[in-house]
Amino acid sequence: SSDSTDSIISTGSTEKSRGSSSPFRVVLMGASGVGKTAIASIFAGAVDSMDCDEVYADEVCEQTIMVDGEKAMVTLLDAWDSEDELGCSQDQCIQEGDAYLLVYSITDRSSFLRASELRISIRQHRPAQHTPIILVGNKCDLVRRREVSISEGRACAAVFDCKFIETSAAMQHNIWPAFHGIVQQLRLRRDTKEN
Ligand code: GDP
Repeated sequence: SSDSTDSIISTGSTEKSRGSSSPFRVVLMGASGVGKTAIASIFAGAVDSMDCDEVYADEVCEQTIMVDGEKAMVTLLDAWDSEDELGCSQDQCIQEGDAYLLVYSITDRSSFLRASELRISIRQHRPAQHTPIILVGNKCDLVRRREVSISEGRACAAVFDCKFIETSAAMQHNIWPAFHGIVQQLRLRRDTKEN
């Protein structure tokens, strides 16, 4: 599964030092069962833990992570893909997010189609061109159960105008590069806005 990574880490950093005062709100979206909770748990286990004892779906978790040698505060929201659950609905979470990890499972084509629908919902709430989104194909360790090829994922991301990465929460593969990539995009966007 190591060949499944698109490089999302830009070399160097064009950002200016600006501290880490306001947290970036990153929303995990995707069909049920794709691994959002597993990804959130890895995020919650990071060093510098602030207030994440345990992570449950739809709970907000805040972490300080190091990206390109600079601290970044990230608030992670895990959105339920269900109407009848309490907590943060997809719609609410979309409205609260600065950036989105759009997760599907490479073993579940319907979750890949669901990601397309969610991309449309995000666009409705966030019409701005450069809303940071990474399309995340999770469970890339399950090679023999693959239903969505890497090239399909990549092509979809091109249509979505977003980055693409394949991950395995089970193997802890590429989860941090996904978070780092989203922070890098957020910083670039913030710097573009402010200048
Ligand atoms: P959620 O509904 O999107 O929050 O999905 P969960 O995080 O609850 O994961 C659903 C199931 O998939 C659980 O049994 C997880 O252990 C499993 N799972 C999650 N990520 C991976 C992965 O990368 N690889 C494998 N093999 N299983 C995974």
